[in-house]
Amino acid sequence: MSDTIFSKIVRREIPADIVYEDDEVLGFRDLNPQAPVHVLFIPKQSLATLNDATPEQATLLGNLLLAAANYAKQEGFAEQGYRTVINCNEDGGQTVFHIHVHLLAGRRLHWPPG
Ligand code: IMP
Repeated sequence: MSDTIFSKIVRREIPADIVYEDDEVLGFRDLNPQAPVHVLFIPKQSLATLNDATPEQATLLGNLLLAAANYAKQEGFAEQGYRTVINCNEDGGQTVFHIHVHLLAGRRLHWPPG
């Protein structure tokens, strides 16, 4: 099991600006935001990368995305639009090895990403 800075946020050992919480998912603002809205949705249980996900965790993965979509609706920018991203491993740009969905919004996002 990987123990990262995000596990410490789940255990409330370090502070975070938490904007969403349910039994299995935590959402908090990214420390280094890349858009006016930049929230990370993570499972409370540790899962290092998308590569490590099992079929038993399919519902959990779906719930991460639904938490992001519901947050966008609740905050009123769902219709305007947003992006969800999961980076995986080195070439994917993953730096924290506790899986997370980035939710980015509040400006026109470019495609393709860098
Ligand atoms: P990754 O590059 O996809 O792994 O994304 C990791 C994200 O976590 C980056 O956008 C960081 O800015 C963010 N981050 C790292 N440490 C913290 C923290 O303590 N609180 C909130 N966000 C963090």
